[in-house]
Amino acid sequence: MTARRGAGSAALGYERRFGSGWTSGVFAVSSGVLALGAVVCMLFPDLLTTPDARPLYPLAAIRALVHFLIVAALGLGTLSLVLSRRLPLGLAGLALAVVALLLGGSQVEIGAVSGRPAWIGLDWFLLNLFVLGLVFVPLEVLFARLPEQGFFRVGWLTDLLHFMVSHLLVQVTVLLTLAPAALFFRWAVDSRLQAAVAAQPAVVQFVAIVVVADLAEYAIHRLFHRVPWLWRFHAIHHSSRTMDWLAGSRIHLVDAIVTRALAFVPLYVLGFSPGPVYAYLVFVSFHAVFLHANVYFRFGPLDHVIGTPRFHHWHHAVHPVDRNFAIHLPVIDRLFGTHYLPPGQWPGDYGIAGHPVPEPYPRQLVYPFVRGG
Ligand SMILES: [Zn+2]
Ligand SMILES: [Zn+2]
Repeated sequence: MTARRGAGSAALGYERRFGSGWTSGVFAVSSGVLALGAVVCMLFPDLLTTPDARPLYPLAAIRALVHFLIVAALGLGTLSLVLSRRLPLGLAGLALAVVALLLGGSQVEIGAVSGRPAWIGLDWFLLNLFVLGLVFVPLEVLFARLPEQGFFRVGWLTDLLHFMVSHLLVQVTVLLTLAPAALFFRWAVDSRLQAAVAAQPAVVQFVAIVVVADLAEYAIHRLFHRVPWLWRFHAIHHSSRTMDWLAGSRIHLVDAIVTRALAFVPLYVLGFSPGPVYAYLVFVSFHAVFLHANVYFRFGPLDHVIGTPRFHHWHHAVHPVDRNFAIHLPVIDRLFGTHYLPPGQWPGDYGIAGHPVPEPYPRQLVYPFVRGG
């Protein structure tokens, strides 16, 4: 395990103990990437930002944050150079900050918006990386199940690429998630039923959405495990050999889109109000990340009510396979006889026996389509 976690840092020649310039270097690069990304988004909003999100951004706060990130990248980059006497991380942090400054820094002028039909969700990627990182990195430091694992474990770059591409392509994935329901299931819509559903209090609708969506997700998930050609897509998600908040992002685009599109069908047919549906989307995006996190919390009886990291980690165990298909509600697995949660125990090894899936991101994308690959 020590050899594994050390692989990334050893490649750059850094020691990882506190005060060695490693942590300051990593934070310098992270701050520089976020700052430069935000500046580029402000320069080219037409191409690089989500149209629906543009009016919602608090610009003054974002400019203040960009300013803070640039200062942090400059300060921490310098600190890393001094402490480590090594160039890569500190210099990269400084370079990112300088480029962000040359492009206009926190006071960059916002570019023109002409309403182009196709765009890239760079803002969506940066926002999610920032918010999820802010929540889950401290959680994994403070409550790590495997403290020695660290962020830069085997496969972190592959998972980050999955995370990045799926967020940059948000326009395509949202369209492909929502469109099939309206295209193929309009016949199933009953306006009186929809009116009755939408008339329920928001909390009732939210709970109903969690139940309905998870029943659908359970069925689709089992199908992905049962049907051999579907499994080749889902195997990508199961190829993670370490669990943490980023590991859950390792999902083949086809797996993600088909699962979400099918799970959306009952929500579309039943006609839930937009408010509870949006609340569910926020809930599922945090809960799905949490389920994979490298955290050790004791939930007691709640273990049997709501999906916890220990519950989903067993879904990723090498042995036994085909357990715990539900996302939110373990009771669904109890109903169908697929529940597995030995008291207090965690899996020894994660992944697929024999590890048939290749590690590099491009090879994972084509893996389901390559015979014997
Ligand atoms: Zn699975
Ligand atoms: Zn998972």
